[in-house]
Amino acid sequence: IARRLEPLTRTAGVSRDGERVKLLANIALADEAENAFAAGAEGIGLFRTEMLFCERSTPPDEEEQYQAYRHVLTLAQGKKVVIRTLDIGGDKPCDYLNLPQEENPFLGWRAVRLYPAFEAIFSSQVRALLRASAAGPLDIMVPMVATLEEIKWLHARFHQVAEQLHTEGVVVGEWRLGIMAEVPSALYLLERAAKWIDFASIGSNDLVQYFLACDRGNPHVRHLYNYCDPTFLMLLNEMAARSNVELCLCGEMGGDPVVMPLLLGAGLRQISMSAGRIAGAKKQLASLEMDDCRKTLQRALACENAAEVTALLHEASAASV
Ligand code: PEP
Ligand code: MG
Repeated sequence: IARRLEPLTRTAGVSRDGERVKLLANIALADEAENAFAAGAEGIGLFRTEMLFCERSTPPDEEEQYQAYRHVLTLAQGKKVVIRTLDIGGDKPCDYLNLPQEENPFLGWRAVRLYPAFEAIFSSQVRALLRASAAGPLDIMVPMVATLEEIKWLHARFHQVAEQLHTEGVVVGEWRLGIMAEVPSALYLLERAAKWIDFASIGSNDLVQYFLACDRGNPHVRHLYNYCDPTFLMLLNEMAARSNVELCLCGEMGGDPVVMPLLLGAGLRQISMSAGRIAGAKKQLASLEMDDCRKTLQRALACENAAEVTALLHEASAASV
């Protein structure tokens, strides 16, 4: 962290006109939490648990997971912590699961779609998470959810496991269930799912890929993969407007200062990004007014392509300095 940003590691995110915006950190290992809080994170908005599971020959047992999750919750001292359940398949391999080769791995058997078949691994994670919630309030988030049926299944499973822990006399703390909004159907799910989930977080990395139908890692379609595409911004804006559950954003887009006014203009008040970006984001936030952000978003939505949006954003930020 640059010395001039140092004081911002200890303050909360507030815009120039006094609107609170929570700036959270994305982490991939429990050990990164300490740095994230030192860098000014107001919580952990995404703890990806794949690292705990992959690049090894057997899955971690419940105890190993419990220790990792509890470590993060203990460091958080009551601040928000969102831990994401296993997101494998697609671009995220895991050797010991012996997943079949697929023609379309991104559209195939991945993330939440694997849980019913890998019941032992899934329940070890759910048990570890619910036990860890005794160390602080925990938000549990499920990746790649595409249907209401999946949401209902998850809700039932989590409550079943909580019940089981209760009969075993194991302490479970406060926990909430949420989903990644990273499949376009989430636009409608967020309107309807409030009975079963409490929150969602926009995974713009995958949402762009699925919305514009372009592989996020394929160089030949890189010109299409752009979160500044006006149609994608329309989706984002609609999602924020229609959601009946608390909404955050945790894709790479969240850490890009160029698009921050668009996220705020759409009404997002929680953004999760890599820890190194947080102090800078707080500084930027302090210079922005929500009315201007809403106007900038409206202008971006009227653009014809991503290049126009980017030019507009650079012009708007130059004008505000
Ligand atoms: C996303 O898809 O935006 C996201 C945050 O998850 P991941 O990058 O791990 O797929
Ligand atoms: Mg994703």
